[in-house]
Amino acid sequence: MIPAEFDYRVAGSVEEAIGLLSGNEDAKLIAGGHSLIPLMKTRLARPSMLIDVARVPGLTGVARDGGTLRIGAMTRWHDLERDPVLREHCPIVAEAAGQVGDPQVRHAGTIGGSVAHCDPASDIPAVLLALDAVIVAQGPGGTRRIAASECFEGFFQSALAHDEVLTAVEVPVLDGAGCAYVKFNQRAIDWAIVAVAAVVRHSGGTISEARIALTNMGTTPVRARAAEAAMAGASGDAIAAAAALADQGTDPPEDTFAGAEYRRNLARVLTLRAVERAMGA
Ligand SMILES: Cc1cc2nc3c(=O)[nH]c(=O)nc-3n(C[C@H](O)[C@H](O)[C@H](O)COP(=O)(O)OP(=O)(O)OC[C@H]3O[C@@H](n4cnc5c(N)ncnc54)[C@H](O)[C@@H]3O)c2cc1C
Repeated sequence: MIPAEFDYRVAGSVEEAIGLLSGNEDAKLIAGGHSLIPLMKTRLARPSMLIDVARVPGLTGVARDGGTLRIGAMTRWHDLERDPVLREHCPIVAEAAGQVGDPQVRHAGTIGGSVAHCDPASDIPAVLLALDAVIVAQGPGGTRRIAASECFEGFFQSALAHDEVLTAVEVPVLDGAGCAYVKFNQRAIDWAIVAVAAVVRHSGGTISEARIALTNMGTTPVRARAAEAAMAGASGDAIAAAAALADQGTDPPEDTFAGAEYRRNLARVLTLRAVERAMGA
């Protein structure tokens, strides 16, 4: 299928991209193009102008600043998966990046494009929710920082304004906490039917804090609050009992891959697996 006609501009800076966006309500940013181009081919999106931000200097790579890792918005999955700083200090981001699509997707798709796209089946949003990450956006009025819990507003709906460019994602250094991203899909290259991100602080088999977020269990990624509360202070069988609460408060979709009840069961099973993996089991 062929997209509708559009103008194409390559932004040399974030400011230039913001200027182009501000002057055109129908313009859209393009990064890796692996979510936007399919929408354009099916004419579900018909931007009059594409503003390419993939080559804007300063928007790629991972840098440590004290207890925070700053990930450039245009960093691709392939590079996130292999980044030595991430792998050492916040491995759940690298682990999830390595499970996105196939090698072609991972060489083109970016973390910023995925966050802005807000697909409830995408992998990284739940990871960012479990990490209490911060999304950094720049617009005509300057820079603002958006908590991950405020960023994913609805089905394909982020908190970003039309004229804002997502420039970075900030995640915490996880030294002292275990983490895991467990994804269930039909084929290795597919989106998650359900997936679970878990960040767990524990000692001697007892959990002091668990942060758990679910992929594709609603119109946005969602924290498994009931399971998290029950995990605090839990050990042994109590951890499995807590995981059994993981689907509480969720509203999973029904589609050709799975029904809602199947997804609820997956959320419970994968939560236990993710927490056990995060604890080193
Ligand atoms: C075959 C296939 C399999 C896939 N499998 C998975 C999977 O298993 N898991 C998964 O999570 N994803 C999957 N994806 C999606 C893939 O990860 C996308 O690349 C990603 O979701 C979007 O990143 P992008 O850089 O390609 O963004 P683009 O497609 O370029 O843009 C997506 C949206 O974000 C906006 N945008 C882009 N950059 C910015 C920015 N800096 N600031 C503000 N807005 C911006 C664009 O305007 C657009 O609306 C798959 C895609 C394909 C084609």
